[in-house]
Amino acid sequence: DEDLALLHAEDVGEIGEEPVVVFPVLAVVGRPNVGKSTLVNRILGRREAVVEDKPGVTRDRVSYPAEWSGKRFTLVDTGGWEVDVAGIEARVAQQAEVAISLADAVIFVVDATVGVTETDTQVVRLLRKAGKPVVLCANKVDGPAGEADAANLWSLGLGEPFPVSALHGRGTGDLLDAAIDALPEVSAHGTPIPDGPRRVALVGRPNVGKSSLLNKVLGAERVVVDSVAGTTRDPVDELVALKGKPWVFVDTAGIRRRVHQTSGADFYASLRTQAAIEKAEVAVVLVDASVKLTEQDTRVITQVIEAGRALVIAYNKWDLMDEDRRPFLEREIEQDLVQVQWAPRVNISAKTGWHTDRMVPALERALESWDTRISTGRLNAFLGELVAAHPHPLRGGKQPRILFATQASTRPPRFVIFATGFLDPGYRRYIERRLRETFGFEGTPISISVRVRE
Ligand code: GDP
Ligand code: GDP
Repeated sequence: DEDLALLHAEDVGEIGEEPVVVFPVLAVVGRPNVGKSTLVNRILGRREAVVEDKPGVTRDRVSYPAEWSGKRFTLVDTGGWEVDVAGIEARVAQQAEVAISLADAVIFVVDATVGVTETDTQVVRLLRKAGKPVVLCANKVDGPAGEADAANLWSLGLGEPFPVSALHGRGTGDLLDAAIDALPEVSAHGTPIPDGPRRVALVGRPNVGKSSLLNKVLGAERVVVDSVAGTTRDPVDELVALKGKPWVFVDTAGIRRRVHQTSGADFYASLRTQAAIEKAEVAVVLVDASVKLTEQDTRVITQVIEAGRALVIAYNKWDLMDEDRRPFLEREIEQDLVQVQWAPRVNISAKTGWHTDRMVPALERALESWDTRISTGRLNAFLGELVAAHPHPLRGGKQPRILFATQASTRPPRFVIFATGFLDPGYRRYIERRLRETFGFEGTPISISVRVRE
């Protein structure tokens, strides 16, 4: 059918194959109230109402996909998270340190109307030590009168201060141009190499056993880094041989460095989890099998799905499982994990090493699904049968017709359906269910988008 062929060339070509790229990371740091959140919102093109005014609010999300001048990057937001006033300097420094360690370049925000404070000077010391490129944002320069305040910030020794009004947008373009120039093409945090070792993140809420599992895994034979040619990797990643194949466990320093005792523990945990997931191809979410699944557990699972990474769920501490709990566990899995019935589950004990060898096959299954491509021919044959057996329900006397579908990308599999009208969410879920029944996709999220054509 010629129409469909045209549709294909025109619409699908531009979607293209998305390789797994770890975008460079830009972090916005500075002491509280200098305008970090306002600046982040401006960069993301969000409305000011999003700025969270409540101190002590822990936010789920700390990094965002962003784009400027056609260059994509990950923006790490450390604003909106206020510390209590006691010991504020130490905390700001700690917060900045974590953000800087994750970043390829930093926007350091100073309130030009206040000038340089002791806390600012502390952060400058950290920035110097880290040696990452820094762009200095002299914020709250709302008009020409403030330019002199901005010029005073040359004294920080970080080069040219960019006068900016994050609130009104003044000067933000020049600031971003400079920040983009400072960012490398790809993140120093490592770019997955085709055919290179697969990248795994161990994630989960504090105390579920991540560092115990990492230690068990690292007990296996370690590979000499140089022996894997062309591997770019971050020193915080670990290269390990498991079942004769090299694997990279990302952001292991984050697992080892424990900050549970500080009041911002949730914030750091969330920041690290997000960063680790983004650097990985597949995430193992550890949960504690001996206690009830918590909201924090499901939140981490959601983070993995939203990032589009392959997923394995490990029920750890199985040695502590009370037989009485077994039936409850089954019910929890059915109820709380209904959205991720497709994820392989392994029951393990990181402490004793019991069944930890089952992780590798589960990881391999999940990655294989993540990489899967269904040919356009097979996909349309499948959809043809599906629609014949179970047509879309009538809506106001009309029925959206499915014209054509294609898999636009892998890693994870993304499908685009061209139809004459929007498909009901229920029908989309039905298509996803049937896709999984037919093609497997164990361990990978899949996405289905619909494009309407007359
Ligand atoms: P953060 O704690 O560093 O994230 O700071 P916020 O973004 O929450 O901003 C703190 C306060 O400064 C808020 O009341 C903002 O409206 C205000 N603010 C931020 N940027 C500017 C600016 O460029 N000019 C002015 N006049 N106020 C600003
Ligand atoms: P992390 O915060 O996720 O890195 O958790 P840890 O690895 O530090 O583990 C937290 C606590 O749980 C430690 O006391 C571990 O010894 C214990 N733990 C971890 N895995 C297991 C397990 O499989 N069985 C038992 N009984 N304890 C475990």
